This record gives sequence, C-alpha cells and structure tokens, in this order.
Amino acid sequence: MNIKPVRSKENFLVFGSPAIEEPEIEEVVATLRSGWLGTGPKVARFEQEFAQYKGAPNAIAVNSCTAALHLSLLAADLPQGAEVITTPLTFCATVNAIIHAGLTPVLADVDPATMNIDPLCIEAALTERTAALVPVHFAGRPCAMDPIMAIARKHHLVVIEDCAHSIEASYHGQTTGSFGDFGCFSFYVTKNIVTGEGGMVLTKDPDKAARIKRLALHGMSADAWKRFGDEGYKHYYVVECGFKYNMMDLQAAIGLHQLARIEKYHERRLQIRKIYDTALKNLPITLPSPPEPDSIDSYHLYQIRIDEKSTGISRDRFLQQMTSHGIGVGVHYLSLPEHPYYQQCYGWNSDHYPHAQRIGRQTVSLPLGPKLLDSDVNDVIDAVERVLNGK
Ligand SMILES: *Cc1c(COP(=O)(O)O)cnc(C)c1O
Repeated sequence: MNIKPVRSKENFLVFGSPAIEEPEIEEVVATLRSGWLGTGPKVARFEQEFAQYKGAPNAIAVNSCTAALHLSLLAADLPQGAEVITTPLTFCATVNAIIHAGLTPVLADVDPATMNIDPLCIEAALTERTAALVPVHFAGRPCAMDPIMAIARKHHLVVIEDCAHSIEASYHGQTTGSFGDFGCFSFYVTKNIVTGEGGMVLTKDPDKAARIKRLALHGMSADAWKRFGDEGYKHYYVVECGFKYNMMDLQAAIGLHQLARIEKYHERRLQIRKIYDTALKNLPITLPSPPEPDSIDSYHLYQIRIDEKSTGISRDRFLQQMTSHGIGVGVHYLSLPEHPYYQQCYGWNSDHYPHAQRIGRQTVSLPLGPKLLDSDVNDVIDAVERVLNGK
C-alpha cells in the first residue's frame, strides 16, 4: 500500500489477544516453583469457583472445549451413529466432536437476525434417528432456548450447549449451560476468559459428572484423582478406555484470576461494542443486531457484514486491506459445508444452508476484548472507514 497505514507493522493490532495481568503471571510462576504443574488443588478450586459463578452443581475442568463436547456426547450414551443436530455456523470443533463420539452430525440453518440455530430448521431436520441437539450460543448471543428445549422435551433429545462464546450469557434470566444436559465452555486464548488451552463441562447429573471426570483421565476410577493428593499412595483401576483430557494446575492458575475479572471484562466488551455501534452506524455495512430483551449477550465477537453490492469491496479484499492497515481481523465462520472434508464425507452443500452460507461469506470480526485501549478501538474504526472509502 502506498498510503500510510493506520498502524505500522511493528504496532500490528493482534486479533483476539488476551488480557493477561500480573496476578496470573505471579500465580503461574508460583505454580512452577511449587513443582505441582499437573492436575491438583488449583484445578479443583477453578472447578468450584466456575461452578459457583454459573450456579451449577457440578463442573469438570478439561483441556479444551473440544474435549468437553466430546466427553459430554459420550456420557450422553446415545446409540452408535445416532443423529445430532447442530448449526452450520460454528467452529469445526463442534461437529468434529460429534463425529469423534461415533455419531452423525446433521445441520439446521440459522436465523439470519440472531445468527443462531433456527428452531424451525431444527424441526425440519428431525428424523427417527435424531438423539441430541448441540445449540451454539453464537458470538455470545444466547440461542432461543425456550423453543429449543420444547423440541428436546417433545422428542426426548439430549441437549449439549456449546458455550464456547457465551460464558457470561443468560436467556430470559437463566444462565447459558444450565438449560441442557451438558454445558461446554472454552478458555482458549481468544475466548472471553482464558487459560491458554482449557475447557469446562457443567452438568446437573452427578453420575454423568463422575463419568466425564473418569473419561477425562484414561478411564481410571475416581480414586485415581486422589493420586494428586498427599494422602499417601493410592492404587487406581482402569474401568473404561478414557482419554487424556485433564486440565493442569498451570492452566487453572491463569483461569482463577481471569474468572475473578470476568464481570469487569464483560463490561468493557459492552463499552467497546457501543463505541463501534455509534461510530459505524452510517456506513454501508450490517452491524450486529441488538441483544434480545431479558437476555444477556457475552459480546464475544463484534461482527460486521460486507455485502459487496453495498460496499463496492469484497469481503476478502476488505480483510486484506484491514490487515494492511495493521488491524487483525477474523472470520467466524465460513459455514461448515464449505469445507471439503464435510462435503466428501457427508455430502453437505452450503446452498442448502443459505443463511449460514451468506453470513460466512460476508462476515468480518473486528477486534473486541478487554485488552483494547480506546485508541486501539479508534484505530479500528479509522481503518474500517478508510477501507470502505477506498483509502
Ligand atoms: C473455540 C470453540 C470451540 C473449541 O474450543 P477449544 O477450547 O479450542 O477446544 C468449540 N466451539 C466453538 C463455537 C468455539 O468457538
């Protein structure tokens, strides 16, 4: 680019860069010095505090939301090959977890206003073999859980909420992850609170919680966790073939301090969203729709839509130009049927999910997070305006 970019290369604004503060740095160092890096007391505390924050009876920490989804789908005890309905507008992990659990993913298109799975499309996708629903509270906005739970009750379906974007969210006064049989959370680096890699399962059922805990550590009986205590040597017994999905104290050390700041961070996200809403409202782009009444959005993403017919610039060119201006941007997401693997294995065609297809081809995520200064937000706005004005 010949013109001067909004930010220099050295000053590139990294998309989704987490806010890491002194207390978690100190806690990680203290954990390293303690010699207790693996699963131990900090993980147990993080589970308790997360459960308390969400008002959940049982929380199991794991090493990713992908693992959380996988184990929830296994603990649901569904018939081999049963169909699980989810949204085409999600990260591939949602569908990969369904496949890894030996189940068959089926897609139901989204409501274009909310970008969340459309209950009417769920109904249209139901078959005799449907056994579960995996709604994703996309971008932090809670799904229409009243009609979704009504469908689940009517057809005896297990519900696993993918809450990777929606830690702070609630729908009609009820917190996300508490509607279904399982709620799965992510603390990946770009999520609203982080542990580097990390995830959590919430479930009301204590037996399912015990099963998930066992599956997360090689299928070793619950006593195996006491190996991590100081009560002397414990024998452990493998009672099923599990996975290596446990969270480490090193990760929980970060999460404990992030969780303590979750409300402060959430408020800052809302503030930035309002700044964007005001500054961008007269541009020829689509802004996020306002949150639903009586519900709380997590404001995980701030997505604008670039329709070349209105903007004169393609979405992909827009992405490129923003990057040239030193602003990191994201795409959440190209709809899943656009990926060759799913086309080949499941015969998916994105034309059959037109809303998800269009959103996936037009969407751009602007930086949004507690680490951003007002001056960073202004740089983003500046860059958006300049790119749209061809400068
Ligand atoms: C990030 C994400 C996941 C996976 O989370 P990990 O912790 O990275 O495994 C699953 N679903 C959605 C919607 C996500 O955005």
